[in-house]
Amino acid sequence: MHRTILSVKNITKQYLATQSSGISDISFDITEGEIVAIIGESGSGKSTLLKAIYGLLSLDSGEVRFQDKRVLGPDEQLIPGHKGMKMVTQDFSLNIYAKVYDNIASMLSNTDIKSKHEKTVEMMEHLHIAHLSAKRITELSGGEQQRVAIAKALVSDTRMLLLDEPFSQVDALLKNQLRADLKRIATDTGVTVVLVSHDPADGLFLADKLLLMKDGRLLQQGAPRALYNDPEHLYTARLLGNANVLNAAEAATLGIDTSGKHLVFYPEWVLIGSGSSAFTIKDVYYKGFYEELLLEGQGGLQFRGIQLSVGSGHKKNDQVLVNIGRYVISN
Ligand code: ADP
Ligand code: MG
Repeated sequence: MHRTILSVKNITKQYLATQSSGISDISFDITEGEIVAIIGESGSGKSTLLKAIYGLLSLDSGEVRFQDKRVLGPDEQLIPGHKGMKMVTQDFSLNIYAKVYDNIASMLSNTDIKSKHEKTVEMMEHLHIAHLSAKRITELSGGEQQRVAIAKALVSDTRMLLLDEPFSQVDALLKNQLRADLKRIATDTGVTVVLVSHDPADGLFLADKLLLMKDGRLLQQGAPRALYNDPEHLYTARLLGNANVLNAAEAATLGIDTSGKHLVFYPEWVLIGSGSSAFTIKDVYYKGFYEELLLEGQGGLQFRGIQLSVGSGHKKNDQVLVNIGRYVISN
């Protein structure tokens, strides 16, 4: 069963009349149970889009439909949002003097005390915070507070969870865990997750679908693999990966005609030791299990390739043959 849970149609919200800000003419659908990541550079309109989905903004045009009902704006209803949709912002909005348990339980009604208790405990276990149950929010780390905020948002039969930059406050190790937890919770509970991130690595490996924002517009959308392997725009390739970008003249020196467009390829698409173009390894950057190679050809043309760190790797100043094994031509 693949049902559309959220439908965004041609929404526009400009904050300022004189200059372009906010978002323009955005349309997309989200299927129930999907994890969707809105990514893009700072100022590209990600938070604005999330707020628009949640009903925090009065839109200039277009509409947002959640479970087939139009989401009302702040001028249409007093309390924003929609039952079944919850947003966790960077300030977490927790009652900092109350205990973890009470913060979460406060979202549930008292009509069935037993069920209230069970749901609270279950949600704490889901987010690995059961051991913090009796602690006050002020006694928790930022990462722990975030888990409480997510548990609180999810506990009351939430069908869609909106998260603005959920990974920005946690260190790399916790980030990995939170990412895995979100994926597991989405799978276990069928909740739809929409998260915003400026770091594409967050979205790339977590999401079923990426929405790529630039200058208030939705530039490209699709599965992470599809966007990574077939970036329509330079921006996509640069944001998602460490792409090499050559202009048409540079591409021509490699014998590739781009019809005036750009040649885009990731370092791992460069084949070292085959082909006909001779390059010099100008530098080698150690990256753990692989090394990035800065390659320079005739006329000073430079781009990056990779080699695995184990085995007989090439060294700085080595001459190698290079072939661009795969590339895309982008605008
Ligand atoms: P992101 O979350 O991707 O960093 P935002 O959605 O916060 O981007 O902002 C998108 C654009 O709208 C930016 O140019 C920003 O300066 C502008 N903007 C955001 N909020 C307001 C506001 N309340 N008033 C005026 N301009 C705003
Ligand atoms: Mg933002």
